[in-house]
Amino acid sequence: MSASTATTASTASTAAAAGPTFRLPQERRLVTEVPGPRSRELQARRAAAVASGVSSSLPAFITDADGGVLVDADGNSLIDLGSGIAVTSVGNAAPLVVDAVREAVGHFTHTCFTITPYEGYVAVAEALNELTPGAHTKRSALFNSGAEAVENAVKIARSATGRQAVVVFDHAYHGRTNLTMALTAKAMPYKKGFGPFAGEIYRMPMSYPFRDGLDGKEAAERAISAMQAQIGADSIAAVLIEPIQGEGGFVVPAEGFLPALSQWCTANGVVFVADEIQTGFCRTGDWFACDHEGVVPDMVTTAKGIAGGLPLAGVTGRADLMDSVHGGGLGGTYAGNPVACAAALAAIETMRSLDLAAAARRIGAAALPRLRALAQDTGRIGDVRGRGAMLAVEFTVRGSTEPDTATTAAVARACHDAGVVVLTCGTYGNVIRLLPPLVIGDDLLDEALTVLEGAVRAV
Ligand SMILES: *Cc1c(COP(=O)(O)O)cnc(C)c1O
Repeated sequence: MSASTATTASTASTAAAAGPTFRLPQERRLVTEVPGPRSRELQARRAAAVASGVSSSLPAFITDADGGVLVDADGNSLIDLGSGIAVTSVGNAAPLVVDAVREAVGHFTHTCFTITPYEGYVAVAEALNELTPGAHTKRSALFNSGAEAVENAVKIARSATGRQAVVVFDHAYHGRTNLTMALTAKAMPYKKGFGPFAGEIYRMPMSYPFRDGLDGKEAAERAISAMQAQIGADSIAAVLIEPIQGEGGFVVPAEGFLPALSQWCTANGVVFVADEIQTGFCRTGDWFACDHEGVVPDMVTTAKGIAGGLPLAGVTGRADLMDSVHGGGLGGTYAGNPVACAAALAAIETMRSLDLAAAARRIGAAALPRLRALAQDTGRIGDVRGRGAMLAVEFTVRGSTEPDTATTAAVARACHDAGVVVLTCGTYGNVIRLLPPLVIGDDLLDEALTVLEGAVRAV
């Protein structure tokens, strides 16, 4: 263990000096159409074997990946601007993560932490307690997926406060399980036909500067007065919010909105839970998006970028809240899997040694002016927003705020055809989001943006 830790540390410091290293050429290279013949064969097998409710945005079957590229079954090398939905922030197949997983998996794959524990789980909890906003005493619990972390945050908040109501926001996305479907705003495709949904969930208006024109203080007053009138502060266990909304459209609330909500929660004994599952781990240019305005949540949920692609999630919060739950009240068979914990420690080490928060800020600084110029030139983009390497363009019908879903789909399709993986999002499906791996090279990012610009100009 100590020998392997020493190797890891020296590899990390070499990496910091040299920048990220890659196994595969960091290039866009198309040798067939995308998806090509081999992917189409696999797609036919898939259609006969895989439930059709599970769909893929770009059905090119991946056989290898590294840094900022995905290689498909036909040998095409695609530029990755999605990171598997903000997961592989440290890069696809990041070397430290791969090494840590190989090392861990050679020893043991599972014990169930609630039967017999292991050090990796404790080390990840320590890292989460240190890295999440605020210097107060914290505790963490680990789970498998983001939805599971959110469910547990709600359980803990209810148990700690003895209250039941949970407040969420318009455009929110918190997952696909029964409780988190109720917390999620968008019916299609996440909720339609899947009810009945959990009770005691209340949806409030989000700060959405492009669409509501309110400043942060006004938007917070609107939400707070609605909470007071419709629920009553003393019935609310938790206010749950994404500091920048993900699936709902990369909505960045107006400055001041989050601090005002958080202060109101503190004053009223309401647990303020930041869902940082998509925004966390350097994505927005800080360790966590709440850091930007100095907001210190009572509880933070994490997943996605935490472990370089292995399934892991966490709830981190004030020790008094987290420890209010009875022994045995939290857990799960696979929760905090030892291989996933090893991957998380290596991913965090990669973020530190390569300073990926700074890398995210550089990506934002390179991309935002180009996206703004594109909006100006084409008149097809109503809003350009985001922070760090969490960026989006919202397509609207020229000269209005009316969502332009058709153009959005056509632009995404054109990018895919040209070998650039982009994702769409938004309540109206009219947003293209950019979530590149934070280790993406300047040239690769530049080329991907050029493809996107060409696609927007061509539609
Ligand atoms: C993805 C996501 C979730 C759900 O995470 P899963 O791992 O898919 O269950 C919850 N909240 C936010 C903000 C997310 O982006």
